[in-house]
Amino acid sequence: MEMKQLQGKTALITGASRGIGYAIARQFAAAGADIVFTHLSSDEQGQTSAEALRAFGGKVSVYRSDAADFSAVEVLMQEVVREFGRLDVLVNNAGITRDNLLLRMDEQSWDAVIRVNLKSCFNTVKAATRVFLKQRSGVIINIASVVGIKGNAGQANYAASKAGIIGLTKSVALELGSRNIRSNAIAPGFIETAMTQDLAEASIQDWKQAIPLQRMGLPEDVAHCALFLASDTSSYITGQVIQVDGGVLT
Ligand code: NAP
Repeated sequence: MEMKQLQGKTALITGASRGIGYAIARQFAAAGADIVFTHLSSDEQGQTSAEALRAFGGKVSVYRSDAADFSAVEVLMQEVVREFGRLDVLVNNAGITRDNLLLRMDEQSWDAVIRVNLKSCFNTVKAATRVFLKQRSGVIINIASVVGIKGNAGQANYAASKAGIIGLTKSVALELGSRNIRSNAIAPGFIETAMTQDLAEASIQDWKQAIPLQRMGLPEDVAHCALFLASDTSSYITGQVIQVDGGVLT
């Protein structure tokens, strides 16, 4: 029997109780990985998702842990090593939006988005890298956004956080390539999740018209790319940003 792509590997995914993170966790679990994932608010959702992931047969742990909290992430990483004995793949997926036009954007909205989306990546990458260096290998996948490449009116905080993630991704790739640690980002376009559910119908129609493939993306579309980047099939790829956006930014 052919070995599954992530058999024997452990993956940590932040913010994976639902949406894109959960789709990534499913793909990884189906590919044979053990899964650790975090979330922030609903314990019930966290447990339900963990249960569904266990059906794939691997080990699954869920932590309620704020990715933006530096010391909480250090504790989380100690737990992962204690429980799983290793870490092979880190996916930074936790993210929020606090949209508003710049003139109406308050300081709290700016700080919250930068903390949760960008500082969280610093926290986890720093903690995971210690493990990766000991193991002499590791894969980092950061979920950015096409908005981090092109900007978006009403999302200055979010676009800045996602552009920051791209800068971090590339710098880490340069610093740690010689240690067999790969670092890549995925820039999704417009994906059907709770994050985009509340957008006005008119705005959704505008978006769809601008997408050459004529549909919104599914969380699974992003997850397939994440699986590729997590597996050895992409072993010569680092420092890249892969757009999964139906061609919207071309
Ligand atoms: P979502 O459906 O809103 O899910 C967000 C997930 O992140 C939830 O599991 C949530 O847990 C968790 N989370 C939020 N804050 C957290 C924190 N501080 N620490 C740990 N976990 C936290 O979002 P999504 O649409 O799947 O987006 C996932 C990622 O893709 C984000 O980085 C987003 O920016 C990016 N992205 C999304 C789109 C899109 O169109 N949807 C496009 C481009 C990029 P709780 O529910 O427990 O709070």
